Amino acid sequence: MKHQILVDMDGVLADVYAQYIALEYAESGIKLIQKELNGIREEELPAFRKHVQKPGFFRTVPLMPDSIEGLRYLNNKYSVLIVSSATEFPNSLIEKQQWLNEYFPFISWKQMIFCGRKDSIKGSIMIDDHPKNLGVFSGKKIIFTQPHNTCLRDNSYHRVSGWKDIMEIL
Ligand SMILES: [Mg+2]
Repeated sequence: MKHQILVDMDGVLADVYAQYIALEYAESGIKLIQKELNGIREEELPAFRKHVQKPGFFRTVPLMPDSIEGLRYLNNKYSVLIVSSATEFPNSLIEKQQWLNEYFPFISWKQMIFCGRKDSIKGSIMIDDHPKNLGVFSGKKIIFTQPHNTCLRDNSYHRVSGWKDIMEIL
């Protein structure tokens, strides 16, 4: 039987920072540099919450580099579940499903879990960018590097900086 692997969307499959930076530039003219956001929590970024709540944010978010190849690789080897916190922003539910259908047609609706907290979802491996999700998970924890988690040092996490890393270690 294949091991079950839980894959996050925002900050893992979806490049939320690229979307945020583009929207903030379009609105304010201020061009933020992703590297300069290292160590800053998402909630502390200017207008982050406002942009995330806009209709279309999740429907048009760019892909994380190599995520299609990477998720196809995992899907052939593991039992993949896409687990995404979506109920905080209810508009995002349909947008997220449409986005997954567009870019990852090999992932069926049965593999999509849109939830609030993730602590009741079982699996052997979790790939996520947020310690709040990894911290309560009992299997192997893989942290996907994003600006808000760059300062985190925790030996219980395996850190990856992109999908190429994931395909190497899994
Ligand atoms: Mg995430």
